[in-house]
Amino acid sequence: MNDSMRRVAAVLLVILGGAALWWADSRAAASASANDAMVATIAAARERAAANDSRLKGASRFEQGGWIYVHLEGLPGAMGYQHGYLLAPEIEDAFAAVSAGMMHSTERDWEFFRRAAHEMLWPKIDTEYQQELQGIVEGLRARTGSKLDVDDIVAFNAFEELPDYYVPWLNKQQKTGQAPDLKSPGNCSAFVATGSWTKDGQIVMAHNNWTSYRNGERWRIVFDIAPKNGYRILMDGFPGVIASDDDFGINSDGLMVTETTITQFEGWDPNGKPEFVRARKALQYAGSIDEYTNIILDGNNGGYANDWLLGDRKTGEIAQLELGLRAHQLWKTKDGVLAGSNWARDPQVLKEDAPQFDPANKESSPNARRARWDELLKENKGKIDVALAEKMLGDHRDSAQHQEEANERTLCGHVDGSPRGVPEWEWRPYYPGGAVQGKVTDTTMAGEMRIMARMGHPCGGDFLAKPFLAAHPEYAWQEPYLRDMKAGPWTQFRSGQAQQE
Ligand SMILES: [Zn+2]
Repeated sequence: MNDSMRRVAAVLLVILGGAALWWADSRAAASASANDAMVATIAAARERAAANDSRLKGASRFEQGGWIYVHLEGLPGAMGYQHGYLLAPEIEDAFAAVSAGMMHSTERDWEFFRRAAHEMLWPKIDTEYQQELQGIVEGLRARTGSKLDVDDIVAFNAFEELPDYYVPWLNKQQKTGQAPDLKSPGNCSAFVATGSWTKDGQIVMAHNNWTSYRNGERWRIVFDIAPKNGYRILMDGFPGVIASDDDFGINSDGLMVTETTITQFEGWDPNGKPEFVRARKALQYAGSIDEYTNIILDGNNGGYANDWLLGDRKTGEIAQLELGLRAHQLWKTKDGVLAGSNWARDPQVLKEDAPQFDPANKESSPNARRARWDELLKENKGKIDVALAEKMLGDHRDSAQHQEEANERTLCGHVDGSPRGVPEWEWRPYYPGGAVQGKVTDTTMAGEMRIMARMGHPCGGDFLAKPFLAAHPEYAWQEPYLRDMKAGPWTQFRSGQAQQE
């Protein structure tokens, strides 16, 4: 008997044993509890069998500082299996929260997203990522007996692009009457600095992730990926998703990558390649700013359109790639700082891809944070290092009101405290969203494949779900998924880390 036959036989034996037990017990009118016991026995046998799968070799997981660190290695299918297996409980939980949000905002059912994944996205995904996504399904099913299939996982991987880019485009195409007003998201505050701007003259890169607290509280994975092909990757990420997606990552050829999204972006190309695939591929295969640009532009579908902030530790050069669908622009410098807070600046991109955005409105979240980045970075020119960058990510200066107040206009966003919300992103007053975690690295750290990361608001403040929901019943639909988001400490992670250290 080969390994897999032996495993099947072992599981069968347990099932038969369990069934016999169940049959005997049911005659004693204790069928309910016996049935529970049988289910538990079968689940344990399945988990034991899955844990012996040779594809798990080399993979590992531990938790630290509120983060879950996962090491994946090898062929694409094996890395997917490891991902699905090691994060199975988190994937099922995150899938429930994310899919509920996608259906709620778009008023489309899940079948609609599965179809979009199957017919539109899947055929454009590179074979290696198809294998990785398939592997996630297999690992997940082996561990928990999950019913999710590859269409579910692909739609879920596209959670930043299908609801807010594809659906509004489709509604417009189909002239859907009374369609919900969907706006592309505004995720994140970030900067990358180099030359005379930083303390040691090398690159410093920092990013905090802005999203709903419902999703953001689950954005707590540190992925250490050692693929058979391409560069080693260290990035933050979301359970079940193959790209960082918020995005923050470094690779072993010295590339440093982050981004902030373009507010009020409009456009979608159904024939393009999903953004989550292009972003993952670029981080895995790009060794320079130009290579990164070429990979992410190849098959650009307009999904999750970002201002990419890049650094190359080998040259000390940084760059901003403003990636619209109809237009894009690349700026590079070896002495400067490039900041992002969800605004486009290239006239062509503004005109063709984000025509509704008003760069002159000082009161809006993107522009108020832009002004604050300008002020804060200039004040600290020549002093910027990792410790200072960590502090900047937790900044609460509202540049529109000229005062300290954590709200939608501060670099560390707390929109749940704002009676204004962020209308540009369709975030209503007191929307439970804002900065949900932060990461920082620099040239030295990137050379050693290290990052600093803090879970929760980068300022260290906690979000508590119960009092929030009591005060804001308009968000009651989120109640099953909205949890406390408590801040952890700034914590260091590095590639190849085997456990908490
Ligand atoms: Zn804060």
